[in-house]
Amino acid sequence: MRLSGKTILITAAWQGMGRASALACAAEGARVIAADIDAALLETLDGVETRVLDVTDGDALLRVAADAGPLDGLFNCAGFVHHGTILDISDADWAFSLDLNVTAMMRLTRACLPGMLERAAETGTASILNMASMASSIKGFPNRTAYGATKAAVIGLTKGIAADFVTRGIRCNALCPGTVDTPSLRGRIAAAPDPVQAEKEFIARQPMGRLATVDDITPLVVYLLSDESRFVTGQALLVDGGVTI
Ligand code: NAD
Repeated sequence: MRLSGKTILITAAWQGMGRASALACAAEGARVIAADIDAALLETLDGVETRVLDVTDGDALLRVAADAGPLDGLFNCAGFVHHGTILDISDADWAFSLDLNVTAMMRLTRACLPGMLERAAETGTASILNMASMASSIKGFPNRTAYGATKAAVIGLTKGIAADFVTRGIRCNALCPGTVDTPSLRGRIAAAPDPVQAEKEFIARQPMGRLATVDDITPLVVYLLSDESRFVTGQALLVDGGVTI
């Protein structure tokens, strides 16, 4: 099994890519600690340890990091999509997006890194994976200014961590999916004035003619958290169905 002997913490693990990643990592033999703001997680993920965690709560994430112990892998998956142009962004919207998409990721990584350095000293490597997006410094999309700015910051955060700790066994990469069929995407489609048209438009921007499924994304998550990717660090890896060809 590709992740046996590894302890991996994953945020936003109740639904979408976080949940699929938690199950995929457990299937590859990892001890997975799945954290989510939603307590329903506690009852719904078989074979995975669960924690209730609002990643914007700095004290709570310190507690979860301490309780998890030294990690071999950390997948910072939590994030929020603000819809609108810059003219629609209130100061509160901007602060919330930065807080959830970037600051929480920095804080949880900072809290987990000392333990990960211990594990890397023992095993040779530990892996941090940060959820970015193709909507970031990679490509702009309408109504994604706050989102794209925060996901661009995730790529910068990733490269900084990778550069600082590359000699000490820590790898840090950013995952940049295209449009993935998850509950929150379904929510964004349902909230559009014309949901049928909105879904068509999401699909139309994917050259492969379909949305990604979570199962299109999890193989790269497992790879980046496994030792198979031991020479890969500081990268923003796209799984976008050809959008950026
Ligand atoms: P989702 O948005 O459907 O689910 C998000 C999960 O995050 C939920 O389980 C929710 O309870 C949890 N969550 C929300 N706020 C939280 C908080 N404060 N603390 C802890 N957990 C919290 O899942 P998804 O669409 O797979 O998105 C996951 C990540 O992938 C996000 O960072 C998102 O920006 C990114 N992403 C999504 C897409 C897409 O098309 N779906 C594309 C690229 C990147």
